[in-house]
Amino acid sequence: MYCKNCGSEIDDQAVVCPKCGVLTEGHKQGLEPKTNTMAIIGFVMSFILAIAGLICSIIARKQIRESGEKGMGLATAGLIISIVEMALSFIAVLIYVIVIAAALGSGVY
Ligand SMILES: [Zn+2]
Repeated sequence: MYCKNCGSEIDDQAVVCPKCGVLTEGHKQGLEPKTNTMAIIGFVMSFILAIAGLICSIIARKQIRESGEKGMGLATAGLIISIVEMALSFIAVLIYVIVIAAALGSGVY
């Protein structure tokens, strides 16, 4: 379809025109914008596998910005959860390494 405001060709799934940001006809007719699938996957994956959640959430945020779909909050939550999870595992590994190093150090001498 074409944007009624600026006339540029836009995706039929789009809720807002990526060029000028005006709501498309489809939305005016009462079509609810659907939640971005990648945002849901990213959010769920952030609890299972942080790195997969992080990647999916980044992709979802990019897709939502372009398509105007719902789920930006979900994608942001998935992103934050993934980052926090990765930071926590990094700290856990760091503590583990320090403890092992300390144990080895005191054991040898
Ligand atoms: Zn437009």
